Amino acid sequence: MLIILKSIKNIFIHVRSSIKFIFLLVIATVIIAGIISLVYRPMYSVTLDGEFIGYTTNKTKLQKRINEYLEGEGQNVAFIDVKSLPEYSLCLLKKENQTNDDEIFEKVKSSGTTYYEYYAILEKSEEKYYVSTKEEAEKIINQLKEKKSRNIDDLGYTKLHSTELKEFKDTDSVVTALYEKPKVVVASAYSTYTGQRIVSNATPSAQVLGIGLIKPVSGIITSRFGVRSSGNHKGLDIATSTGTTVAASAGGTVVFSGWDSYGLGNCVKISHGNGVETVYGHCSKLYVTVGQTVSQGEAIAAVGSTGNSTGPHLHLEIRVNGVAQNPQLYLYK
Ligand SMILES: [Zn+2]
Repeated sequence: MLIILKSIKNIFIHVRSSIKFIFLLVIATVIIAGIISLVYRPMYSVTLDGEFIGYTTNKTKLQKRINEYLEGEGQNVAFIDVKSLPEYSLCLLKKENQTNDDEIFEKVKSSGTTYYEYYAILEKSEEKYYVSTKEEAEKIINQLKEKKSRNIDDLGYTKLHSTELKEFKDTDSVVTALYEKPKVVVASAYSTYTGQRIVSNATPSAQVLGIGLIKPVSGIITSRFGVRSSGNHKGLDIATSTGTTVAASAGGTVVFSGWDSYGLGNCVKISHGNGVETVYGHCSKLYVTVGQTVSQGEAIAAVGSTGNSTGPHLHLEIRVNGVAQNPQLYLYK
């Protein structure tokens, strides 16, 4: 009996010392934790592309701000593309380390590329004007359709995704800029026969040639098509230096290459089919012969000042069924 009592007492003493020990341990932990929390605090170290960019204590808030930025805001911003997203790692750092959420955000922002979304109004597949929305693009095309603009078949629009934001035009000014009066049928009754060449005096309007023309030379327009003091000018004069290559405005067959006794000097005439002909006058050299097939852009002659000419220039004529047309209805507009 006495032994049992003694052992109960022993257990009691043992438990009491254990409690005391645990209690001391808790006190010590609290004190150590208190000292640590005075000097250190948990923070996220942020890296972008493996490069350290700063510390934050509020990872969720910072990442939310970055996500909102990436979704894109502002007019015509489609999305923002970044090479990589920031990475966070939790660590215990001395309190003196400052957090810099704003700087981290700016660094992520500067690593991103903004893609804008807007619409281009096209003429012959070439981007002419830019508008902000699809509605505006559709409105422009529809208005030009209603007005029966002559170039309507060449007009369209396309959606663009670009890092470059263009200047937007309002719909009314685009419609005004692109509008071309409806086609007027050239009345051949107004044509007058003048020697070898015929000039149409009808309302100037481009006939559908069925071919695309390119500029045979680039230079300065010194004389336009039409009436001038010395009589009708059946072509367009483009001044440039002697020896400049004259390119075929379109592919075709050479129907004349030689001296033109009506004043055009060394001259090339090319037939493009469907009654369309181009004439190149005052050349210094001729590179082609009659019957030869030429392709668009091919060198056919060199600029000169032969024949009835006062200085080096190319005299260009465009004829439809023998009637000289205003070349500026097609080129050098
Ligand atoms: Zn001329």
